[in-house]
This record gives sequence, C-alpha cells and structure tokens, in this order.
Amino acid sequence: MMGTSDLDDLYAEIILDHYRNPRNTGLLADPDLQAEGFNPFCGDRVVLTLALGADGGVERVGFEGEGCSISQASASIMTELLKGKSVQEAHALNATFRALMADAELPHGHTPDELGELTALEGVKRFPVRIKCALLPWATLQDALAQPGAVRG
Ligand code: ZN
Repeated sequence: MMGTSDLDDLYAEIILDHYRNPRNTGLLADPDLQAEGFNPFCGDRVVLTLALGADGGVERVGFEGEGCSISQASASIMTELLKGKSVQEAHALNATFRALMADAELPHGHTPDELGELTALEGVKRFPVRIKCALLPWATLQDALAQPGAVRG
C-alpha cells in the first residue's frame, strides 16, 4: 500500500505533467460549441471549443488557457475525458467531479473511477480557494453545453 505522501507525490506528478504538457491545446477552427471562463481569484483563464459528431457526441476538443497548474491540469484532463462522450455523459462527468470536490455524495450510479486522472485533483478540496481553480474548466464546459448547438439532432 502506498502511504499518503507517496500518493500526494503521484498526484502532484500527474498535475505537473498535464500543466507542462497540456493535451488538446489549440482552439478548433470550426467549433460547434465554445465558451470562455475566467477565475478572478487566481487569474486563471480557459477557452474551450468542442466539435460534435453526427451522433451528437464530442468528436474533437481543443482548449487554450493560462493560469495556475491546478486550473490548467484540470482543463487538460477534462479534454481527454470528453472525447467520444455524449453531451449527457459530459454533464454526468461534470456533476460527478463537482460532487467529489464538494465532498458530496456522487450522483447515483457514478463512481470516481470515471474521472480517471482527475482524482489527482481531489487533494485540492482541502484548499477552498483552489477548488475554484479546479472547477473553472468544468464551469466553462457547462457554459459551452448550455448553447443551443449542444442539443441538435
Ligand atoms: Zn488557479
């Protein structure tokens, strides 16, 4: 079994890896959905673009951002999780991650396993100000999914 500090090291490594080598960077030229989020507490910014496939699922995703490692790692991991997901599944991921960060009961039928590397951010919930950093990309996703284009088909 790993001790708490080993686990913290592992989580810190995951966060730094995504911060230094963010996945899916660059905005899509032809997005179906786009939103921008800003966290004034920390100066974090995320612009998210999504292209939906014929089945209405997330086919491509691209983001640009700046700010702290927590916000940018959360955005990078989020873009990886979103690929191939339906809009409904994206909403469910959002709700599950928010519940995890709020120490609330997860939505019925959902587990932290679905969140993959995002669970590395769970330690952040000890620091309320940083929770806003972790949730910024997800608030931005929520704005993007609230656009009319998300329910086409
Ligand atoms: Zn931040």
